[in-house]
Amino acid sequence: MPAGDAFRRALLGGALGVAAWPARAQPLPPQLTPAEAEYQPRPKGIAMCASCTLFVRPNLCKQVVGEVSPDGWCKLFDMVD
Ligand code: SF4
Repeated sequence: MPAGDAFRRALLGGALGVAAWPARAQPLPPQLTPAEAEYQPRPKGIAMCASCTLFVRPNLCKQVVGEVSPDGWCKLFDMVD
């Protein structure tokens, strides 16, 4: 195999790796509206935003747009271990 091919592959692989990095490093923006997530500003049993893996203190969510209450709940709830 010509040395130029290996060089071009290495260069292309490096360029793609650099191009892909920001997409992996950036957190995804919230995806759903409160209505789509069936958000409510009160707990559902013992389940609430404050004990959800998607909660971002003090009042944001990784999946639901806008502010949420630590006492709120939605159908995406994911209990912290
Ligand atoms: S229960 Fe979890 S996913 Fe749903 S709004 Fe609260 S923090 Fe976000």
